[in-house]
Amino acid sequence: MIKDSFDRVHNYLRISLTDNCNLRCFYCMPEEDYEFTQASKLMHAAEISSLAEIFAGAGVNKIRLTGGEPLVRKDAAQIILSLSKLPVDLSFTTNGVRIHDFIDVLLEAKIKSINISLDTLDADKFRIITRRDLFQQVRNNIDLLLEHQIKVKINVVLMKEFNDHEILDFIAWTKEVPVEVRFIEFMPFEGNRWTSNQVVSLEDILARVQTKYTFTSMEAGQNDTAKHYQIAGHAGTFAIISTMTEPFCGTCNRMRLTADGKLKNCLFSITETDLLSPLRRGEDVLPLIQECIAGKAEALGGQFSGLFKNINPDTIHNRSMITIGG
Ligand code: SAM
Ligand code: SF4
Repeated sequence: MIKDSFDRVHNYLRISLTDNCNLRCFYCMPEEDYEFTQASKLMHAAEISSLAEIFAGAGVNKIRLTGGEPLVRKDAAQIILSLSKLPVDLSFTTNGVRIHDFIDVLLEAKIKSINISLDTLDADKFRIITRRDLFQQVRNNIDLLLEHQIKVKINVVLMKEFNDHEILDFIAWTKEVPVEVRFIEFMPFEGNRWTSNQVVSLEDILARVQTKYTFTSMEAGQNDTAKHYQIAGHAGTFAIISTMTEPFCGTCNRMRLTADGKLKNCLFSITETDLLSPLRRGEDVLPLIQECIAGKAEALGGQFSGLFKNINPDTIHNRSMITIGG
């Protein structure tokens, strides 16, 4: 079992397969020209499987693959199929662009649920956010997953006066379509030009939904990061991930392995533990994993607390989101 000093059991591992991506979301990629990590520095497929097995042996029962974009990796299918043999609930977070190339693999791996990022229902705005003209392809791929009875959760990062006016459009979408729309508060990372006045808070979101709909709260799971809501008569549901205004650190069970094999004990952790180099030297990495998690800060990587409006993003030390994976 992997536990931190606050007695939180860590049984959920997020693995980034690459920091490369086929989209260029402006809030995720650093502003300066970004150089993707060389392939030799990334974990190989076999190394990912070995590390995943070690984590599973230490009590991890949930693994999420992420990126960058996990499905741009040439050996993504091999990795998915290999990890699907472990006794874990395997899922992933993707921008949805390449789902049609992987549908057979997803079915073979018995993937039950996928998170797809889609911050707008407007094709022009999609092009502005991602700098690519692939809105329709992503929409079609969402339908493809639903046709195959794979549950779809839609990640929507909200930014004030940019896409917050679409909150009700996303809710309207859940009337007939059985997706879970998850509104995410915008978070600060290296180079993403975050300012506190861009954050659309949980309170703002609920107030906006209330102007048109009556909703009820759904019961929360033990380690849920999202607060879930239901609207009577809607096939889908909505949820809010309130990292900035109501963090959920008290019940955190997550660890993050970057594509270059570094373990982060928190999304906002300053320090990282290299697992890949010792693994390549044939050393036992489990003690390093235990030590890394034992050193986890109580909340938000120990980097900030209190009112999000007082956060100075220049004082936060972290990788950019594209190199962590969310
Ligand atoms: N490429 C995949 C995707 O877009 O789903 C997986 C990686 S992406 C980094 C994982 C999630 O992080 C996405 O849902 C994305 O919208 C979210 N994300 C990226 N930057 C963020 C930020 N600054 N604040 C909140 N969420 C962010
Ligand atoms: Fe790529 Fe996902 Fe980041 Fe967009 S949010 S740039 S799709 S990694």
